Amino acid sequence: MTQTHSTASITHTTCPYCGVGCGVTVRQHGNVLSPVSGDIQHPANAGRLCVKGSSLHETVDQIDRLLYPTVLGKRTSWDNSLNLVADKMQQVIHDHGPDAVAIYAAGQILTEDYYVANKLMKGFIGSSNLDTNSRLCMASAVVAHKRAFGSDTVPGCYDDLEEADLLILVGSNAAWAHPILFQRIAAAKQARPEMKVVVIDPRRTATSDLADLQLSLRPGSDALLFNALLCWLSDYDALDHDFIQQHSEGFASTLQAARDSTPDSLQECAQQLGLDKHDLETFFQWFASTAKTVSVFSQGINQSSSGVDKGNAIINAHLATGRIGKPGATPFSVTGQPNAMGGREVGGLANQLAAHMDFSAPEVDRVRRFWQAPNVATRPGLKAIELFDAVKRGDIKFLWIISTNPLVSMPDADDVKAALARCELVVVSDCMANTDTTAAAHVLLPAASWGEKNGTVTNSERCISRQRSFLSPAGEAKPDWWILAQVAQRLGFEKAFDYQHPAEIFDEYSRLTGFENNGERDLDLSGLSGLSRSQYDAMAPTQWPVNRQYPQGRKRFFDDQRFYTPSQKAQFIAITAALPASRHQDGSLIMNTGRVRDHWHTMTRTAKSARLAQHIREPYVDIHPDDAKRLTLVDGALARISNHRGKILLRTNITTNQRAGEIFVPMHWTSRYASAARMGVLIDKSCDPFSGQPELKYTGVEAEPFPTAWQGMILSRHDLGAVPCDYWVYGLNDGCHGYEIGGNQPLEQIQDWAQQQLPDAEWLTLHDPDTQHMRLLAIVDQQLALVLFVHQDQAIGTRQWLVEQFAQTSLTITERKALLAGRPLEGVVDQGRIVCSCFGIGENTIRDAIRSGCHSADQLGDTLKCGTNCGSCVPELKALIQDTHSECS
Ligand code: SF4
Repeated sequence: MTQTHSTASITHTTCPYCGVGCGVTVRQHGNVLSPVSGDIQHPANAGRLCVKGSSLHETVDQIDRLLYPTVLGKRTSWDNSLNLVADKMQQVIHDHGPDAVAIYAAGQILTEDYYVANKLMKGFIGSSNLDTNSRLCMASAVVAHKRAFGSDTVPGCYDDLEEADLLILVGSNAAWAHPILFQRIAAAKQARPEMKVVVIDPRRTATSDLADLQLSLRPGSDALLFNALLCWLSDYDALDHDFIQQHSEGFASTLQAARDSTPDSLQECAQQLGLDKHDLETFFQWFASTAKTVSVFSQGINQSSSGVDKGNAIINAHLATGRIGKPGATPFSVTGQPNAMGGREVGGLANQLAAHMDFSAPEVDRVRRFWQAPNVATRPGLKAIELFDAVKRGDIKFLWIISTNPLVSMPDADDVKAALARCELVVVSDCMANTDTTAAAHVLLPAASWGEKNGTVTNSERCISRQRSFLSPAGEAKPDWWILAQVAQRLGFEKAFDYQHPAEIFDEYSRLTGFENNGERDLDLSGLSGLSRSQYDAMAPTQWPVNRQYPQGRKRFFDDQRFYTPSQKAQFIAITAALPASRHQDGSLIMNTGRVRDHWHTMTRTAKSARLAQHIREPYVDIHPDDAKRLTLVDGALARISNHRGKILLRTNITTNQRAGEIFVPMHWTSRYASAARMGVLIDKSCDPFSGQPELKYTGVEAEPFPTAWQGMILSRHDLGAVPCDYWVYGLNDGCHGYEIGGNQPLEQIQDWAQQQLPDAEWLTLHDPDTQHMRLLAIVDQQLALVLFVHQDQAIGTRQWLVEQFAQTSLTITERKALLAGRPLEGVVDQGRIVCSCFGIGENTIRDAIRSGCHSADQLGDTLKCGTNCGSCVPELKALIQDTHSECS
């Protein structure tokens, strides 16, 4: 709701990043936006925000925005572009049938957008070829839930994570991927130190900082671990026999399947898992003896060729101990995206129909009658990988991509690029103009962005929140629901898509969830139907279901032991644990992928914030010291990671956090921000047979040094786009654009290119071709316009003091000399790489404070403030304390 006070308007909305779904308060004075803050009323975050959320106001400019429709790169009107899209859809459907068109959307769009897209495709076009990037996020959890509970129900709530006595984080780097949830857990553990935390992850991450026990298991062996746990619980009589007998089915065959695929000896089991026997036994004992146990699982489980089985192996352990539907006792799937939940609720995956209904004849009939749509799809459509393969084969001739960047995020991303090149018409609606995917589109439609959009999202605990607009759309941008409805109307479905406001869409969707429900479907929002616009505007965050039985929402499902299966009993699912297929034919190392702390997806928003760009400036590869030694990789030097599908260039980071034989690569950098860092080009198309979710965490690759004749950096007042050298990475600074560069091109070539960027500038140069040492400064109107430093290696030192020189309105001769010498003037402090993004505190400053007597993160916080806002950097502060102490000892 937006409230206007005498001088400021205040809007309560939600963060558009991760699945925690924090509430955000936005204050505006006229056109001026104040720094955003956490909404203290929102149940997910109660006023907290992580650094991504608290930088949101820095990302709402119009730079790189898609501002008006284009066809083949030429600006056109909305009318022309919508007519063209509708005409082409109609022609393809007429000539080739409805399955020759497809939509690929995203967990970024709002529930109302999703609902309209789903209704258009599955209700009126008559094809289920609507899939989304949620396929890459949590499709496996959806299937695991449906197999066990008969419905895609998240049983618990965030409070359960705080109430647990044993919290298991499996396949989840919550400290970086779900920071506020992690902060809630950290605070709960601080208040109750007896609460135990187990982190199950092949690599040690920032989340491990909280762990009482870290199980760095062999990648992909999670199902074996939880099968072994089930056998242990049975052997040591730690089962809930009443629950198993009265409220579940399939226990005996499930236990037998677990026994059949689990070694009898604990030692042998530990060996197969790559774990220490004592650690494994400790985990089993803790699980067996702790009634209040929560198992949080995320992408490390889902993004796997056996992700559904892994999810069910976790759920099996909870059912066997009756730990579901109780405070502090539940399995808990956490979604990656802000509205992946809303998408799966409306039916926005190709294997769902609508509103938690699938393709049984009665469900198809019910949806048909509700929508009054004679053409309702009667069978599932193509899941993401199948969908792009069908585009490549030419079976899909019209593709509409909404708010996502599959040319970066999909496995075998170059194959997706090739597929799009063969498609008769590719439409992309997006808020950004310059992405790998917009470059492949015939038609670009400008979509409204965060701050401009109005609707609802659902977070990982089923809480529906309003996302409210407080800005006018940039240029001619429109909400996604409007764009979809306009095309639907042009296809002849005027009446069914005559929406004037998202409140009308939400009302229709709520009525569908309650339609002939009678308590048979978990998703029921009938209590939210019939809201007036002002009630919709004022809607407070609410956990579904909201109906006659639960008018205020429901915190926990299955507290009544009633499941949505035909027998109303939970289903054990027999799992034969399978390790990922060997990828060693593709390379001797296994590549894992994931998020970094301060970036989001393909960086289209987070790259706009200098604060966020400072934490990790370059894409990197984490590699164990033994592998680095064997492969002659040097810490801080460039490495080429490759297999037969492609190659990428990354900065080497040697760390014992990584198991030998395995590497980690972040997922975020695209062709817009780096010369060659799209990790998706290396990944093959293996996916889970039930969910279709790709295996994004287990790819065979090789690593080798990438020698360069020179390395360096550029700072520029203007965005320079791609740099003509082997390696470049873009990152925004306060007041200038930054590039890390390296290559084997002649230095004169990079010098000529730089000077062509500013033909009228005054240039100061220092160049020694023998040592590949070059410094260039461009001065325009007495101000620094560009700095280019190149050395034989990366020994440039920090850039922070140079960045600050861009704020100078007039550079003195002495300052110019100091700049050319590459040395700060006396008295200018070099604080080094930024660790605490919230307060801009650098590594050198933190290390100095540690050397001066700060021995804990709390003491650093008292002295420097670092880590005292969002807390995301606390694990790094602790690591710096340890590292600095070991340097000193
Ligand atoms: S944890 Fe951070 S990124 Fe996630 S919703 Fe909250 S503020 Fe946004």
